[in-house]
Amino acid sequence: MDHELRPTTVLNALRQGLPTLWAGRRAGGRARVQVATPAEVAEAAARLRRFAPVLEALFPELQASGGRIESPLLAAPRMQQALGLPDGVGALWVKADHSLPVAGSVKARGGIHEVLEHVERVAVRSGWLSQGPDGVEGDYLGLLAPGVRERLAQYRVAVGSTGNLGLAIGVMASALGFRAEVHMSADAKAWKKERLRRRGVTVVEHEGDYAEAVAAGRRGMAGDPLAYFVDDEQSRSLLLGYATAAFHLAHQLEQAGRAVDAQHPLLVYVPCGVGGAPAGIALGLEQVFGPHVHVFFAEPLQSPCFMLQMMADSGVYPELGPHPSVYDLGLNNRTEADGLAVPRASLLAADAVRHSLAGVFTVADDTLFRDLFVLQSSEGWRIEPSAAAGFGGPQAVLQTDEGRGYLQRQGLEPHLSRATHVVWTTGGLLVPDEEYERFWQRGRALAERTG
Ligand SMILES: *Cc1c(COP(=O)(O)O)cnc(C)c1O
Repeated sequence: MDHELRPTTVLNALRQGLPTLWAGRRAGGRARVQVATPAEVAEAAARLRRFAPVLEALFPELQASGGRIESPLLAAPRMQQALGLPDGVGALWVKADHSLPVAGSVKARGGIHEVLEHVERVAVRSGWLSQGPDGVEGDYLGLLAPGVRERLAQYRVAVGSTGNLGLAIGVMASALGFRAEVHMSADAKAWKKERLRRRGVTVVEHEGDYAEAVAAGRRGMAGDPLAYFVDDEQSRSLLLGYATAAFHLAHQLEQAGRAVDAQHPLLVYVPCGVGGAPAGIALGLEQVFGPHVHVFFAEPLQSPCFMLQMMADSGVYPELGPHPSVYDLGLNNRTEADGLAVPRASLLAADAVRHSLAGVFTVADDTLFRDLFVLQSSEGWRIEPSAAAGFGGPQAVLQTDEGRGYLQRQGLEPHLSRATHVVWTTGGLLVPDEEYERFWQRGRALAERTG
């Protein structure tokens, strides 16, 4: 088979629930939109720095980092070997957001940023902080005073979530004194609801999927001037929080001696649900590394909403309409990767990456569990199933016609041996032991079967 895209091939594979890859950066389709400037991403990073003393005071686990919520970049040579990736295709690294403190997932970046931006706005309006020429200023630790907390208790903060975003928003909002309300979809795990309730967060359970939980949350807040809804489907604040990861990753790559330029490409693989986290990360990385970074999103076989959206926006598949859902394709949106079970992509996220995204690939649930197990056996790291989706990336790019076509079009083939592959492990820290044990057992059985 030649490597030219045959438009029906990818769509057929998607329909049949077969692992596939769609590659981007082709001409045509919808126009480019600038969703966020580099200055706005820098402002989000500055906000996280301003709040560091507050976070340190609220969460004892942040004492070592002085209130910064960050994760290490780790070399993964044993995992590289276990995945059968030869040295000739570059080096495998892991951006370990599975260890992010406070929220236990990538949502710590976006979700916590949005709650902080909100409390900052309330504080300026209330006169506790002031708007200076270079941003908001004042006594941030004063926000923890009992009088301020009492006032914040009059404000509601809500979110709709499959679980992890609810954890991040609920934990951060309630820690500051807000009344927090989390609308959970049917696929949300029981332990996440319990954890939130223990912190005094109101958890509202919905029968429907992620999109319905978000809609219910949005409805419940409408018309209340003291209510704030974190809208995962269209929040710029979330996206900007996620994008700040790029600065830290750039610094970590430099420290590790991994150059990124035309001769040293950077390939990054990020699990994707509604698209906010991976699109924010991709947007930030593009601002730092330009064309030398190639970001691929990873989705479950039954929930490839972002791939569908990119295909719809490419102009090659008019039959998909402007905002397709995975149900339209006959898929069921059921997956053990609860963080990724989303039927329709965020259009804001699609705008953010439409022209820069390298591609999107799909992964079978069995592969998630196997890679979760293999990662534990090879490197000793503990992740949740959603967070394993990126590990299928290097093979999807290197071993499919669509992926090889991309490498060729981008002129990457001669430089592969010097490439850095970063798999973003997006969650896992807070998963209870019994739950992890089940994931691990399932992964072990699969690994033994496939050898
Ligand atoms: C939410 C989540 C993602 C994806 O983020 P989106 O913004 O929904 O695309 C990936 N991995 C984990 C563990 C998550 O919780």
